[in-house]
Amino acid sequence: MAEDTSKKSEAPDWYAGGLEHVWLPYAQMKTSSPPLPVVRTQGSRIVLADGRELIDGIASWWTACHGYNQAHIRHAVARQLKQMPHVMFGGLAHEQALRLAQRLAAMLPGDLTRVFFSDSGSVAVEVAMKMAVQYWINRGERGRSQFVACKGGYHGDTTGAMAVSNTEDGMHALFAGLLPKHHIVDLPDNAQRLAALDALLAQHAGDIAGIIVEPLVQGAGGMTFHDASVLQRLRALADRHDLLLIFDEIFTGFGRTGSMFACEAAEVTPDIITLSKALTGGTLPLAATIATRKVFDAFWSDDPANALMHGPSYMANALACAAANASLDLFAREPRLQQVATIASALLHGLAPCRSMAGVKDVRVQGAIGVVEMERIADLNAVRARFIEEGVFVRPFGNVIYLTPAFTISADELTMLTDAVVKVVRSLP
Ligand code: PLP
Repeated sequence: MAEDTSKKSEAPDWYAGGLEHVWLPYAQMKTSSPPLPVVRTQGSRIVLADGRELIDGIASWWTACHGYNQAHIRHAVARQLKQMPHVMFGGLAHEQALRLAQRLAAMLPGDLTRVFFSDSGSVAVEVAMKMAVQYWINRGERGRSQFVACKGGYHGDTTGAMAVSNTEDGMHALFAGLLPKHHIVDLPDNAQRLAALDALLAQHAGDIAGIIVEPLVQGAGGMTFHDASVLQRLRALADRHDLLLIFDEIFTGFGRTGSMFACEAAEVTPDIITLSKALTGGTLPLAATIATRKVFDAFWSDDPANALMHGPSYMANALACAAANASLDLFAREPRLQQVATIASALLHGLAPCRSMAGVKDVRVQGAIGVVEMERIADLNAVRARFIEEGVFVRPFGNVIYLTPAFTISADELTMLTDAVVKVVRSLP
């Protein structure tokens, strides 16, 4: 890993020795900048070991929607920690998980009412895919193991999730050809693409379990947006060809796109939905795969072989469920969606100067997601370092610079973020 000698004297004692033993995410460790040692977080601030304070533009991969160290969530977790941090979910149940399941069922549209808990977004997607395949097996159709997924999509890093992500030119392109083959199609955002997908489904429906899509915003695959009509078309196609429709709302869920869930805004109820990330307000890992009654009914049987054979050790972890319940309290009692609308206006205004700058391909905003898409970013490490110099934590990927701040960010902090983006984009070669 490239050494940053200027910071060496200020690094805490745990840093250098420990860094030799961790394997970092999404990083060529030999050439990328070393990670910044963090000692504290608060609200939208990340405090580094050398005393610098960065304004956080990402909310820890979109999880910390209420800001860091939110008091109500902290207290709920502390209370639960005293009482019972964890108990296995096989043969046992507990209050936090059951209350949470009931609350999620009540919040989601239609009869998305059966909640399967797991511990990460990728696993929630694996569970959704497994549910969909077994739904058909339990109904006597064994041949349906394929999925239709969308170009530019991202559903996680586990094998099944990678196989329905952007396998051609995405971050997992190395594995193309090795993963199970699915139908990766263009989103049906025009009549021609709709007809092409309809024809594909007419030919292959008997092999396909379902269609999976990130509704309204495809996140880690490139931060691209589509409108509700695309989702309505996917619902109509799934119905016409008798397929399950899976919405992966791991990024879009809990207010990020402007409504509590993207499916609500699109007025489409999927058969299965996946949630994670902001579910616990960014405090503890938890995910949920939620199915409609129709899907659950295919598993409800006198035959043990029809059961869903899945059960992560830490599923429905009591601390994580307590955090999630506290996070839902905050959504109920604080004006989060109004805050998202305010952030959307501020992002539109604040990022607008980028529109006319050289090298900028597009500037777009959806809810609390602001994107400046560049023609290309020649040196990602250098751009990331420029943001740190400006006192903000913003981490572009591919050709995209994006902001996904906490919904509680102050107007001044948000201005500092958008000003930093404008300044850095202006300075790019
Ligand atoms: N699905 C979507 C839409 C995501 O954005 C992500 C993560 O970015 C995942 C799945 C994977 O979640 P995790 O990183 O918790 O495994």
